[in-house]
Amino acid sequence: MDYRAPKGTVDMLPDAASEWERISGLAQDFFRRYGYEPVYTPLFEHTEVFSRGIGEATDIVSKEMYTFLDRSNPPNALTLRPEGTASIVRAAIQHNLVPPGVAAKLYYMGPMFRYERPQKGRMRQFWQVGAEILGAPEPTADAEAIALMWRFFQDAGMPAGSMRLLINSMGDEACRPAYRELQAGFIVQNASRLCEECSRRAQTNPLRAFDCKNPACVEVMAEAPLLRDQLCGACADHYSAVKGHLDALEIPYQEAPRLVRGLDYYTRTVFEVQVDAGLGSQNAIGGGGRYDRLFEQFGGKSTPGLGFAVGFERMMLALQATGAKPPAEPRTQVFVARVDATVAGEVFSATQRLRDAGFAAEMDHLGRSLKAQFKYADKLGAPLVVVVGPEEIAAGEVTLRRMDTKQESRVALTGLVEAVRESFSAEERV
Ligand SMILES: [Zn+2]
Ligand SMILES: [Zn+2]
Repeated sequence: MDYRAPKGTVDMLPDAASEWERISGLAQDFFRRYGYEPVYTPLFEHTEVFSRGIGEATDIVSKEMYTFLDRSNPPNALTLRPEGTASIVRAAIQHNLVPPGVAAKLYYMGPMFRYERPQKGRMRQFWQVGAEILGAPEPTADAEAIALMWRFFQDAGMPAGSMRLLINSMGDEACRPAYRELQAGFIVQNASRLCEECSRRAQTNPLRAFDCKNPACVEVMAEAPLLRDQLCGACADHYSAVKGHLDALEIPYQEAPRLVRGLDYYTRTVFEVQVDAGLGSQNAIGGGGRYDRLFEQFGGKSTPGLGFAVGFERMMLALQATGAKPPAEPRTQVFVARVDATVAGEVFSATQRLRDAGFAAEMDHLGRSLKAQFKYADKLGAPLVVVVGPEEIAAGEVTLRRMDTKQESRVALTGLVEAVRESFSAEERV
């Protein structure tokens, strides 16, 4: 028996989990500020939600899904979600979240599952935070989503110079079919110089040949026709409007005419933020795009949609690589120390009163000596220690000790919360 976490998964230990909570808290603030509301869907869905939504020919559906049968008779085929958008669209149709004339702005965060070869920044269980705008056809919606993602990375501590924002247009049902034919023809013509998978893509998904990392394929695809040059008037207008709005916000982007991203459902705008340091080949920390046909693929009414997702593990690796240390918040604000066991009850109640008043308070549960308790309080980073001894208690008092200056003062036990609050606000005034 191997009692280790399964391959491709990690235990998020306190340091990483604290950083995760910092980033997810920041994400929640951002989404709220931009008008998004939370939505949480099940971790598994009927398999068709993903096979239809994401596309049978994608790597995700053909190779990477965790699919299993449940115990119903006949059994249901269920799949652990490999991404968030398909579930959100399924839920939006089921609960009619986007009636005509309404836009729904929704965000989610949680684990996703893909059976992939694990490597740096690519896990079999990974965390994403994502947002979707449903029912909004205007290019301002695309630009707003891109701006939100960009500003979120910046606020989380990523210097703008360490990131690259790539954008492209995937066209729509008016212009993409003709381009697909053109691309399929190009692949057939050059099949001898392409890898087996790419030559097969002429039939399944010719645009995905742009994603192949094989150097020979990259060389061939550099000469392939670009969708950018084949966009219909409406798609070209939409794309240039998105770029105009990004220019107005001075958000630096690069046009990437070969950026197709891995999913079949995208129409018009796609975007991705990449970093150079910390991630190797898995260098995208977030990305998304518009999916104006996805609702219809689920049998819903035609509804424009747009969204993006941020990969938490990759973002954390990228943040580490910038060397910028996140502001370390002390986990404990006040430590309540006891001089001896006779005052254990007073220490216990005082600690609880401080917590009830909103302070991160901690006490000893191991029967340590006073000296060892001071050492432990120091390790926890507690700036303030309350010392409780039998002599003080007899006088109805306790001692407050500032750990940086070693300054001590006696305060009334009944006024402890106020004294602690005063001590922290005095510190802020300095
Ligand atoms: Zn290839
Ligand atoms: Zn078009």
